[in-house]
Amino acid sequence: MNHLKLNNGVEIPQLGFGLWQVPDEETDPAVLRAIKEGYRLIDSATVYGNEAGVGRALKKTEVPREELIITTKVWNSDHGYDETLAAFDKSLELLGTDYVDLYLIHWPTPKHDQFVETYKALEKLYKDGRVRAIGVCNFDIEHLQRLLDECEILPVVNQVERHPYFQQEEMMDFCKKHDIILQAWSPLMTGGAVLEDPLLEELANKYGKTPAQIALRWQVDSGAIVIPKSVTPTRIKENFDIFDFELSEEDMEKIKGIDRNHRKGPAPKEMNVR
Ligand code: NDP
Repeated sequence: MNHLKLNNGVEIPQLGFGLWQVPDEETDPAVLRAIKEGYRLIDSATVYGNEAGVGRALKKTEVPREELIITTKVWNSDHGYDETLAAFDKSLELLGTDYVDLYLIHWPTPKHDQFVETYKALEKLYKDGRVRAIGVCNFDIEHLQRLLDECEILPVVNQVERHPYFQQEEMMDFCKKHDIILQAWSPLMTGGAVLEDPLLEELANKYGKTPAQIALRWQVDSGAIVIPKSVTPTRIKENFDIFDFELSEEDMEKIKGIDRNHRKGPAPKEMNVR
């Protein structure tokens, strides 16, 4: 497993376990399976409705709490300073732990324009030692720039859609420049077309891997953190098994060539549901 250092010094694995669309009752077995395979970074969110399931896994696992990085996210309906602090308390109760490792704003919902005060609540939680690191998801450059201008603490990550068909080059450059790590969601396009891409299939044959493993390794080799989701034991294992090879510079360059600027999910500016 490769690790990166967040801009506040916290160490984080470059591969984590995604939990979107995992029903609560399936969450603890899936997380326990993932932990057994070696995953240490878990990506939940209030809106996924499975923080309690993560909490059950935390109770059952023999891996010490301090070896795990638990992520959760404040949902759009809880934006605002006091609302965010209250939402955090609820998350903590469901997770059954006394701190969160990585607490993120789920979407900026720019139409409501409360992400700055929401972020200030995250800063308070960080200063109070209730979270080990704070960051955001789905922030465009202009939203990140607002935080840089109006807040004190740099976000450690921006978690955004990224896969070989939506490579986010500009965001990647901005994040690198500001010491923010890009965390890639839907790295397999939620099991979509990218897994049948001819180049990824060709590289899979070359490296003796699967197209999914090539797509995940590409993230690692480009400096991102990647959080694939699976509830299938063989895939949980497969997705973890990407640390015994490296893509050559030439192959990284080839993958650059298949970018289609094709989003699977909504653009941050358009996502204003609460
Ligand atoms: P992924 O891109 O990780 O793909 C998951 C899907 O692909 C599932 O249907 C899974 O099926 C299938 N799959 C997993 N591994 C393989 C494999 N090796 N070969 C073939 N198919 C495979 O999807 P997500 O959209 O879930 O994104 C990953 C995580 O990112 C989320 O779970 C969540 O934690 C985070 N996320 C964050 C967002 C945000 O706004 N911050 C938005 C979206 C996602 P099965 O489970 O049946 O095995």
